[in-house]
Amino acid sequence: MWPFLKVLNCITTEHDLRLVGLAVVICALASMTAINLLHHVRGTNGHMRLVWLAVSATTTGFGIWATHFIAMLAFSPGIPNAYNILLTGISLIAAILLTGTGLAVALAPIRMGTWLGGAIVGGGIAAMHYIGMAAFEIQGRIVWDPTLVAASIVLGGLLGAAALAAGLHSNRWRWRVVGALLLTLAICSHHFTAMAAASIIPDPTIEVSDTAVPSGLLAIAVALASFMIFLLALAGVGIEVRDRRRGELENDRMRRLANAAVEGLLICDGETIVTVNDSFVALAGLPAAAMTGAKLERCFPEEETRLKLLQGSGAPIEADLLRADGSRTPVELVLRPVDFAGKPHRAIAVRDIQARKQAEQRIRFLALHDTLTGLPNRSAFNRKLDHDIEAALAMGRPLAVMCLDLDRFKEVNDLFGHAAGDETLQVVAQRIVGMLDDSQTLARLSGDEFAIIVPAISGPAMAGRIAENIMESLRVSNQNSETHTPVSVSIGIAICPEDATDRQTLLTHADTALYRAKNEGRGTYRFFEMAMGAAVRDRRQLEHDLRHAGERGELELVYQPQKDIRSGTVVGFEALVRWQHPTRGELLPDLFIPIAEETGLILQIGEWVLRTACREAASWVQPLTIAVNVSAIQIHAASFPQTVQDILFETRLPPGRLELEITETAMIRDLGRALATLSRIKTLGAHVVMDDFGTGYSSLANLRAFPFDKIKIDGSFIKAVNVNDGAATIVRAVLGLGRGLGMPVVAEGVETPSELEFLKNESCTEAQGFFLGAPADIASFRQTTHGGAQIDAGPNVIPLVPKA
Ligand code: C2E
Ligand code: CA
Ligand code: CA
Repeated sequence: MWPFLKVLNCITTEHDLRLVGLAVVICALASMTAINLLHHVRGTNGHMRLVWLAVSATTTGFGIWATHFIAMLAFSPGIPNAYNILLTGISLIAAILLTGTGLAVALAPIRMGTWLGGAIVGGGIAAMHYIGMAAFEIQGRIVWDPTLVAASIVLGGLLGAAALAAGLHSNRWRWRVVGALLLTLAICSHHFTAMAAASIIPDPTIEVSDTAVPSGLLAIAVALASFMIFLLALAGVGIEVRDRRRGELENDRMRRLANAAVEGLLICDGETIVTVNDSFVALAGLPAAAMTGAKLERCFPEEETRLKLLQGSGAPIEADLLRADGSRTPVELVLRPVDFAGKPHRAIAVRDIQARKQAEQRIRFLALHDTLTGLPNRSAFNRKLDHDIEAALAMGRPLAVMCLDLDRFKEVNDLFGHAAGDETLQVVAQRIVGMLDDSQTLARLSGDEFAIIVPAISGPAMAGRIAENIMESLRVSNQNSETHTPVSVSIGIAICPEDATDRQTLLTHADTALYRAKNEGRGTYRFFEMAMGAAVRDRRQLEHDLRHAGERGELELVYQPQKDIRSGTVVGFEALVRWQHPTRGELLPDLFIPIAEETGLILQIGEWVLRTACREAASWVQPLTIAVNVSAIQIHAASFPQTVQDILFETRLPPGRLELEITETAMIRDLGRALATLSRIKTLGAHVVMDDFGTGYSSLANLRAFPFDKIKIDGSFIKAVNVNDGAATIVRAVLGLGRGLGMPVVAEGVETPSELEFLKNESCTEAQGFFLGAPADIASFRQTTHGGAQIDAGPNVIPLVPKA
């Protein structure tokens, strides 16, 4: 306690308080100037920085020096005293050099730099004081109290450190004032503590030297120094005002420029946000005021991205922007150094890449998924299967691959349109996904082809159960469906490692099993068996052989008579194609026409059939009709009407004798096109017959859509007329329909006398079938085709109308 009292006592009893007041004012003025100049130094670069550093060192140094000597003037020891000029000069230089060092350190980019620099300034204050005291010549001895000396040095150092730390903490005036006050306190507290440490014992033996400057002269020097401080302070304020105005102008210009930018823009001083533009405000969802002064961390919480950005090469960096609502937006950041308000800053451009990210994600999704059902597509499936096979082999747990195909899907498409087809696929996909667990993968490979990977099965029976469950669930969904388009699937199953251990073979095997399931009744599943591979190879071989069948003359036509039921006379023939295979013998069209349609060979084969049949019919004496079957593929070929016209012209067959038989499927696939083709054929004079009526969609709309010349009711109804009332009803209905529409009805597949009898009773006009004549080589009908009068065709024909 007493050292403090001693200091207080020293001030009040040994000093002229008015001069003490003046010393404090000069000191405060110098301190404020020093802090302001220091801020100015911080904002300048290059050699001007050194100049301004020197100016602030000089002001501070002079300030300390002047404070000291005014305070010394206030000190009245009551005995003669004067000042050694040399030491007085050295004390001033020491003050300037040491404070200069301290200020330079405070501005250097080092940790705790302001504190360290401030402490050095404190050292400068002490050095100045004690050198100044050494210059103080007095008639007496000075005895020092070591405790107070130490206290004076510590006070100067600590308060000096705090002064620069506070003064440079921020640009704000509040902090500058606190800094200046602390610096004043550092200087004054040091001085008066040090003064209290000194006790003067008068000693008349000690002489004051002649060269010493009397206090009066020193007062003039001090007055000059103070005036200089005052000038420098004014200059400092002037600079400050100018800087501020320039800074505001620049700020304003920058802000307007920045706000014009579409991208978000942040200006940072180190990691502190100085200003942001409107785009960034919108992006972050925070008001600009909340961001200025905040740390970068507020918007970009991940430290790693910040580090990468701040020390980065200026290359764009992807980061997450933390928005006001706590959500995160992907952004791209680019950092550029900028000069802002005369100081180096960092400009960070922020680009919203959410849309781009979403697009990328969508593209990635599309690349691996099917758009219609959202299921993995073929390439995703292949990848997954490769992976699962590897795991299956490694773990020794078998895996099943199932290939699924919707039964009669094409018909759904044809009959109800593509939208219904799409919906069916979606429903089926949803149904099946609902049956599977997370480890199992359903993919849509193409059209109506799906595949499932079932990893880690206990055995084939488990795969079979899953297949059954899928078929059952589809059956249930059929019952509940509103469209009433029954969907069923056929499933082929192959097992890894039993059947194969590579993706390609495994899939081929599952496909082979599927093919078998389809052939054996659809709506069922089959496991792959080695023998099935042979069946597939067999079909491939047949395809290959069919390509050359035409040119090798292996195709031929047989003719089946069509008779008038009342008179029993032959009215025409239907041409039916046969394939004399070199090794397999005679093959029927049901076997090879589908292959021809799949491979497109039907166009050539169909044209050959048409030409051959027309040429044959043109050679007959009797003007009988010739019926030729036309595939849907032919109807949809743009050149078909022209082909018909050419052949009629070439063979000179009267067009009215030609009947083209088409099925409903051919119409439905593309009704508009089919109708256009059929109309052109009709204008040629040829007739068009609807074949197999009753088996396809039996749609009245199709019958009405086009004026057919004949309806051919399918053989399956005729076969059933005597056993099944329903069939009889249908045949009656079709006959009635034909009459209503003015279209004659032909019955095909008549095998028994009773069937013929039924047709006759129902006033059917024409018939065809084994009972009336089996298809045969045309030569065997020579009498019919070339005879002078119409005669009965076959030996097994019973004349229906007894001859008169
Ligand atoms: P389709 O047009 O219905 O031809 C009638 C089929 O029924 C012929 O079989 C014929 O031999 C058979 N058939 C005739 N009478 C009877 C009978 O009383 N009972 C039974 N059960 N069947 C009888 P085919 O010749 O095997 O022809 C099968 C199908 O192949 C034809 O059915 C037709 O759709 C198609 N086809 C035949 N030749 C050609 C052709 O040159 N071009 C095209 N595109 N298709 C053809
Ligand atoms: Ca036919
Ligand atoms: Ca038919």
